[in-house]
Amino acid sequence: MESMSDKPTLTVLAGPTAVGKGTVSTYIRDHYPQVWLSVSATTRPPRPGEINGVHYYFVSASDFDDLVAKGSMLEWAVVHGRNRYGTIRETVERAMAEGKSVLLEIDLQGARQVKQTMPDANFVFLAPPSWEEMVRRLVGRGTETPEEQQQRLETAKLELAAESEFDHTVINDDVQRAAEELVSLMGLVPNPR
Ligand code: 5GP
Repeated sequence: MESMSDKPTLTVLAGPTAVGKGTVSTYIRDHYPQVWLSVSATTRPPRPGEINGVHYYFVSASDFDDLVAKGSMLEWAVVHGRNRYGTIRETVERAMAEGKSVLLEIDLQGARQVKQTMPDANFVFLAPPSWEEMVRRLVGRGTETPEEQQQRLETAKLELAAESEFDHTVINDDVQRAAEELVSLMGLVPNPR
């Protein structure tokens, strides 16, 4: 039977620390309402301006344990050796069943788990224009301690090597341009400039 649409319904966006995945997904949230952006659960406390249910579901460690124990997580990981982050399976599966264009912005460990369970998903690697630029962005953000920054750089080096596991690479040289390329890879039409 012919499929109703050639659009990939599930796209996974991953990439190294501080490459700007969050910035690209925020841009998508603000400019592309046709993209269904998954809201992850996390044990990390909210940063200033982050809203529960919009940026993340901020949950306690024991609530996260329960979600994992019930099998409610499509994937989950400890990121930067600190907090847990996970995608809630039911919300994603429902959005896919409704034919929505679903976007997961997750870390590499999570992307690998999704690759195991949903190998036909569209895997997009967000790459920095250069290593120096990535370090500059990480340090410039100023929201982490030096120890946390060092931990994130270590993670980033390993993550950069994973590009070949992905179907496509988008270079985050400019947020709007990168978002447009991502949206095109999702089979959607980018907004006119
Ligand atoms: P942040 O704490 O800066 O918001 O996010 C830290 C990292 O967690 C980012 O690399 C982001 O991609 C990742 N992340 C966010 N949500 C999820 C999730 O649901 N699953 C996984 N595996 N990683 C996530």
